[in-house]
Amino acid sequence: MAKLYYRYGTMQSNKSNQIITTHHQYTTQGKQCLAYSTPIDTRSGHKRIKSRIGLELVCEYITENIYEEVKAIHEKDRVHAVVVDEAQFLSRADVHRLSDIADVLDIPVICFGLKTDFRNHLFEGSRVLLELSDAIDELKTICQFCNKKATLNMRLLNGVPTNIGETIQIGDEEYVPVCRKCYKERLELV
Ligand SMILES: [Zn+2]
Repeated sequence: MAKLYYRYGTMQSNKSNQIITTHHQYTTQGKQCLAYSTPIDTRSGHKRIKSRIGLELVCEYITENIYEEVKAIHEKDRVHAVVVDEAQFLSRADVHRLSDIADVLDIPVICFGLKTDFRNHLFEGSRVLLELSDAIDELKTICQFCNKKATLNMRLLNGVPTNIGETIQIGDEEYVPVCRKCYKERLELV
């Protein structure tokens, strides 16, 4: 039975690089791997997954027809895996459809995303993936301000830490990975 995987991390935890590498591992063995992202984040340009170290992968966006779409491709030419970037932006229904790809079509689905937003609240997609995934892995990186493992994302507006604003606000601000201690100290929550 194929599994639904969730690989989560903070900002800068190498998610895009890992998804591109995973896709590459399948395709170099002649195995078809379908790459998807969520349409909410178009920073990478149209339908592309880009990593910070310069790798790039063409992808499609997840729609409500994802199950039928993968099924149709799979019936013509076997699909060995499905990889999904920016999985924190999936809806509950999206995750259910992805789980059907694993359970009914027997194709592994590997999702990558952020666990929490800059206020430390679970994203909807992450919540459902943490509830339903067969395998959950943490991708690790280091705190921007010290040498501990980063577990949280801090929003910087013009370089100043903040924990207010819209959950999804992409573009004019910066996010950095931080440990809980530094998060509290920088936001004067201690
Ligand atoms: Zn720290």
